[in-house]
Amino acid sequence: KATFSADEYNEALQEAHEKLLQNKDGANADYIPVLAEVPSDLFGISICTVDGEIYDIGDSEHRFSIQSISKVFTLAMVMQRLGINAIPDTIGVNATGRPFNSIVAIETQPDRPSNSCVNAGAIATTSLVEGNTYDEKWNNIISTFSKFAGRDLDVDQEVYESEAATNNRNRAIAHLLEAYGRMYYDPVEATDIYTKQCAISVNSHDLAVMSATLANGGVNPQTNEKIIDEKYLPHIMAVMCTAGLYDDSGLWLYYVGLPGKSGVGGGVIAVAPGRFGIAAFSPRLDVAGNSVRGVRAIIEVSRKLGVNLFTVK
Ligand code: GLN
Repeated sequence: KATFSADEYNEALQEAHEKLLQNKDGANADYIPVLAEVPSDLFGISICTVDGEIYDIGDSEHRFSIQSISKVFTLAMVMQRLGINAIPDTIGVNATGRPFNSIVAIETQPDRPSNSCVNAGAIATTSLVEGNTYDEKWNNIISTFSKFAGRDLDVDQEVYESEAATNNRNRAIAHLLEAYGRMYYDPVEATDIYTKQCAISVNSHDLAVMSATLANGGVNPQTNEKIIDEKYLPHIMAVMCTAGLYDDSGLWLYYVGLPGKSGVGGGVIAVAPGRFGIAAFSPRLDVAGNSVRGVRAIIEVSRKLGVNLFTVK
């Protein structure tokens, strides 16, 4: 089915929320110190349709840091700037099959390609955002993300500072890429912009609108503003499929059959092209760094509505 009624959406959300509410599996991320302090029991799910209708359940207003979900939207910005064919050569589009912060993934590939959905490729992607200075690049990011969400977003300063004080590993990744000619701006500044982009504060409601903008071919269904050309969407979604959930991207695709992206703040999004964007938030993560309840909630909703892209009829 292409469209669903309000009752169908609400029922799917209620069922998933109820089924997973008691699930306590996993643990908050703690390598970014303040993320360990986010109340672990929070759980919200939101859907935004391509017609701009919103359905929320649970803690859908609670703000958290976007983290790696930001990677999709900087990729969109860079694809819009450089075109489809520049991405495989400058960043890479294959699956890494490795954890999101892998250094081995960089070292084991002859030409050092990565993927915008993992840290190495994401920092390279951020280094390619339009702008000659730190401020120009950052202003481009925050204003474009705000257009995707349909409201003015800002940074959770505490999360930014906590990660900026501890992100030696990402700085090492950026320097390694620089050594291989795969960093396109100052590696220290690019890592800092990336860290700030990961600390942008959103709730599941915002993320549903952002993913619905992808589902709607680049036009925000609430503001009707066109953020990115429709022709880029299949390519963005392909990159999401290959590495959106890191080393569990295969498992995700096996069950959900939709492009998805997670972040260590506990958010997960999925895009049902031409139908809706869905976002779930719950801080406890599995070993791959994906929200346990967030992933399962989206599995439940997508199964109930029957939106797996590989379904024949
Ligand atoms: N800012 C986080 C990091 O670079 C994002 C990682 C994630 O969400 N998987 O480690």
